[in-house]
Amino acid sequence: MRALVTGITGQDGGHLAELLLAQGYEVFGLIRGQHNPKRHAVREEFPAVTLLEGDLTDPTSLIRAVEMAAPDELYNLAAISHVGYSFKNPALTAEVTGKGVLNLLEAVRVTGRGGLTRFYQASTSEMFGGLDYNRPGRGYAEDSLFHPRSPYGVAKLYGHWTAKNYRESYGMFVSCGILFNHEGERRGVEFVTRKITDGVARIEAGLQDAIELGDLWPKRDWGYAGDYVRGMWQMLQHPTPEDFVLATGVTHSIEDFLARAFAEIGVDDWRPYVRQNPEYMRPAEVDILLGDPSKAEALLGWRRDVDFQGLVRRMVAHDRELVSGRVPA
Ligand code: GDP
Repeated sequence: MRALVTGITGQDGGHLAELLLAQGYEVFGLIRGQHNPKRHAVREEFPAVTLLEGDLTDPTSLIRAVEMAAPDELYNLAAISHVGYSFKNPALTAEVTGKGVLNLLEAVRVTGRGGLTRFYQASTSEMFGGLDYNRPGRGYAEDSLFHPRSPYGVAKLYGHWTAKNYRESYGMFVSCGILFNHEGERRGVEFVTRKITDGVARIEAGLQDAIELGDLWPKRDWGYAGDYVRGMWQMLQHPTPEDFVLATGVTHSIEDFLARAFAEIGVDDWRPYVRQNPEYMRPAEVDILLGDPSKAEALLGWRRDVDFQGLVRRMVAHDRELVSGRVPA
């Protein structure tokens, strides 16, 4: 089996490369940019992965990559994926995160691989936006109303509908995973969970005295990325292309995350160590995300192994190791 992964340098790309290589796939990764600092890191960690030059905004490069990889499975994980950043670069986000999906689907279609390549689109809970919370207490499911609250969410919704449109128009095997927040030791520090666990480890080591954050009341359904990439793979093994929510079904505030993370280093009161900085607040906020993964559990047999406490524990433990130099960065 041959797989092409876009976004191979990102959090999910790393977990997925690991999973696919372990299963004996020949893995190709799309990589962009003349001086992409992550190129070397991917080569080091995954020498078996073949890197192909390409950019979601450059249609010809995608056609070339699809021709070279001739993939049985294509995982589109590439995107501008940070909500805060998307407010500052909305047009770029639309081009990459939105129109890039169209460019990639077209590349599969015009190379004649529409009937040969199974396509995974990384859709997101940010498409729901926390408003129109039409299933109180049960969480968002595949048929819930969309109301994105950021340029990122809007761009992802365009990608989501484009993916569905290619499924319906051309009969292509295109599945969208609507994934709720998923975190772990590969998460970038620009996301709140890793920013907190990294901060906790540095505070404990005396390298930093506080963590600067934005709003602390929003709630997220946080799972472990390793569990979620397994779900992506399961979606493409399913007999029919469909959309699936992956979530834990439990939601926690950032304050809850802080309390758990500081408890790991024996600190009961986190408040003296947190400063609010308006720079990290967003023009529009998603108040609460809670997902209902019943469909994926029933049809795919998907299960998450790591719960909220397990997630925080593993992230803090990893960052303590990193800060102490016991594992290389
Ligand atoms: P998102 O759910 O995709 O936006 O994931 P993030 O991890 O970036 O943000 C999760 C929540 O944490 C959002 O409600 C943010 O507004 C909130 N938040 C509060 N302080 C921060 C911060 O310093 N950085 C980030 N990234 N988010 C923060």
